[in-house]
Amino acid sequence: MGSPLRTFLRAAVVAVVVGVPCLTTQAPLSAQASNPPNWNALESETLRHFQALLRFDTSNPPGNEYLVTDYLKAALEKEGIAVQIVASDPKRPNLIARLKGSGRKPPLLYMGHSDVVTVDPKKWTFPPFSATRDGGYIYGRGSLDDKPHVVAGLMTLLTLKRLNVALDRDVIFLVEAGEEGSSGVGIGYIVQEHYPLIDAEYCFAEGGNVTRVASQVKFAAIQAQEKVSRGMELVATGPSGHGSAPLAGMAIVELSKAIAALSAWRQPFLFNTTSREFFRLMATVSSPDDALRYRAVLGADPAARAAAHDSFQKSEPRYASMLHTSISPTIVNGGYRSNVIPSEAKATLDVRMVPEEDPAAFLDEVLKVINNPAITVRYTSNTARPIPAPAKLDSEAFKVVQSAVARNYDSVAIPMMGTGATDMAQVRTKGQQCFGIGPAADLEDAAKGFAAHSDQERILEAEIYRFVRFSYEIVFDLARGN
Ligand SMILES: [Zn+2]
Repeated sequence: MGSPLRTFLRAAVVAVVVGVPCLTTQAPLSAQASNPPNWNALESETLRHFQALLRFDTSNPPGNEYLVTDYLKAALEKEGIAVQIVASDPKRPNLIARLKGSGRKPPLLYMGHSDVVTVDPKKWTFPPFSATRDGGYIYGRGSLDDKPHVVAGLMTLLTLKRLNVALDRDVIFLVEAGEEGSSGVGIGYIVQEHYPLIDAEYCFAEGGNVTRVASQVKFAAIQAQEKVSRGMELVATGPSGHGSAPLAGMAIVELSKAIAALSAWRQPFLFNTTSREFFRLMATVSSPDDALRYRAVLGADPAARAAAHDSFQKSEPRYASMLHTSISPTIVNGGYRSNVIPSEAKATLDVRMVPEEDPAAFLDEVLKVINNPAITVRYTSNTARPIPAPAKLDSEAFKVVQSAVARNYDSVAIPMMGTGATDMAQVRTKGQQCFGIGPAADLEDAAKGFAAHSDQERILEAEIYRFVRFSYEIVFDLARGN
């Protein structure tokens, strides 16, 4: 995923306080089924599949995701589950498996991506595709991002099928290629060419996580919406001349002023249901100091709001980014010779828009902030494309997630808005309600260099089993027949 589990060390969280809604002690629906899975017996099988998946080198580039889809196809078909393979590149296929339901409800989609980011093997204690078990961990590229979802989807389908669970909706399992920067062979291709195969009411994918501090679960972040990426370009024009004699209005100087003005711009906060609920609930699982900041951003005191924003920017920049559309200058171009004053300079801005933002109005605001006729501003990406639909927090699906979090993690589900883009974006634009979920990891582990996209990657073995069960229970509770 684009934004790995980041440290929440500033959010040194305390025990869940009283009054947090939705914690439930009622018996799991799945335990009420006549024939519940034997989770202990499924652990060795889960481990075998998980290690097999980790041992396929699906580094992207080049991907070679066929290694994973060939394996899964065999495992699913052996037990009578129908599989379709769709591919724009034969070495980079996508797998779609479906368990049929009665059709009383629309389908449910569970997604995991088969590719992983590249590795520098020298930085690994254990070889990155060895799936070594050591000290309670399983090591390997993809052990967090995103082979847990792949194995959880596999075990969920196999278990539903073996127990012959009657379903009210089809359960679709999608394993997509190319999530790490080449979604044209993966979700982009599927949505464009084969969307009916994955059309569903709800989808579940990576993008969430469960945070543990000192081995205790603190909260489960459930990604219910994500920001929208919009490229923007600033072009400054000015006089050219000899570098020995500086001129008024030099393009590079004007461009620098414009970037500085945007960086200093205090944008008004733009909340949506997801982000408002995120800050409200984070206050309930945080230390008193941190809780004050979470409450301040939702409060009416402008100075406290600004101070909380600035504090997040230093300690937890994703939280600051959740408060408004964000602008990061990422590329600057200008000049070609040390003694020539260039007549043009350009900056590329990575703009991550709150979905509710109006792109045209935002552009007008940017122009006002820059307030300089020497600068032109334009979007480099298509602003007319559909925006992702949020997952509803009063939906049956979110209630099921909340109770699965309470049961499996004895904790609270906190909806959040992703600041980076995931494969769910393309599915959300089709109207599916998508929830990003993920396994538990120790907050301290990221700082030690073990996280998605980090030098090394590992997962607590017990947490892979817990995540499989959590995933199964969500799918079961939403899809089982009455
Ligand atoms: Zn990922």
